Amino acid sequence: MTARKRFGIGKMLAALFVLLFAGVSVALAQAWDALGHSAEGARLVRMQASPQWHDGRFHNPQPLANDDLWKILVGAFHKSDDATPKQPVPVVLDKRSDFAVPPASGLRVTWLGHATTLVEIGGHALLIDPIWSDRASPVTWAGPKRWYAPPLALADLPPIDAVLISHDHYDHLDRATIVAMKGWTNKFIVPLGVGAHLAGWGIPEERIIELDWWESSKLPGLEIVAVPARHTSGRYLFDRDKTLWAGFAMIAANQRVYYSGDTGMTPQFADIGNRLGPFDLSLMQIGEYDEAWPDWHLNPEQAIQAQQMVKGKLMLPVHHGLLDLAYHSWTEPMDRALAAAEKAGVRMVIPRPGESIEPANAPDAAIAAHWWPSLPARASASGDKMAAQAMDESVKPSAKETQ
Ligand SMILES: [Zn+2]
Repeated sequence: MTARKRFGIGKMLAALFVLLFAGVSVALAQAWDALGHSAEGARLVRMQASPQWHDGRFHNPQPLANDDLWKILVGAFHKSDDATPKQPVPVVLDKRSDFAVPPASGLRVTWLGHATTLVEIGGHALLIDPIWSDRASPVTWAGPKRWYAPPLALADLPPIDAVLISHDHYDHLDRATIVAMKGWTNKFIVPLGVGAHLAGWGIPEERIIELDWWESSKLPGLEIVAVPARHTSGRYLFDRDKTLWAGFAMIAANQRVYYSGDTGMTPQFADIGNRLGPFDLSLMQIGEYDEAWPDWHLNPEQAIQAQQMVKGKLMLPVHHGLLDLAYHSWTEPMDRALAAAEKAGVRMVIPRPGESIEPANAPDAAIAAHWWPSLPARASASGDKMAAQAMDESVKPSAKETQ
């Protein structure tokens, strides 16, 4: 080998090394940035003045009975074989033109998978917990991966007036999606402390509105109230409950929508119903529950109970159908919610991902276009008595496929 050639290979190796090093550095920096940013200064002072804040973090009025490590471990051995769909999920692919005509009734909602939902109300477009990334994770190469591409491209959304974020967990607050909105004009309405993440990712402070529970923000003809939820927050090991979590009430002149956020069972649902209900539509969290974390998330039967407590007229389940975050099958939340809704006489609609609903046009009975497959309930896992029961009492779909 000539000296010239050796030099060439050495140079190439050096270049490769530099490239690799740069790539790893960028990946690490992005992951680090995705972990989020801490509140300081005036933002922190305001958080510290919240009735929810003491001992250096936010608290629920009822502490969470949670993180039962033994049950988490045992549950992992009994995880459903169908926690992730084996067949493609029937997604309705939305187009920009679908939103060109405002809803005739004044209220239209488009569920885009998991908690991501577009709500058109009072002449405004609100986008809730937007996740457009492939994974709910600080890194792009690991973590829960979405089962299908977003039903609607970010660029095809109607002009968004406000983005509502319920809390800072990765399945609700996605750095890449927020960064993509840097050049937009929308407001971000978020619980106390979450604004520090947004500001850290380049969103100008004047676009960020932080709310404590029961505080509200107004757009012309529309009030958005942050309401209590029983949950937790944090993006890495050492920032647990350093930002607040919330649900939202969206109140227009003649329509009201409630979004539960992530929450366990709490008597505060009744307060929300009494103070701000009744609601024409509730976006109610039904999925990613387990008895190892009973207070983190409502199970489907609790979601139906919560719907009655908040005085909801029609329930649209969210927080399911996109990511594998628990041990139940991907269809169990829908099956159980439907069974419980029929039993309680609660009106419910379960759209396909991407499907738009106008509550004014929804039928009176509990309904579901039964678009998901009938899968067996888990027989072996602990805590599945309710699942088995729900399946036993099952509940044939009362409405046939609508399309
Ligand atoms: Zn969640």
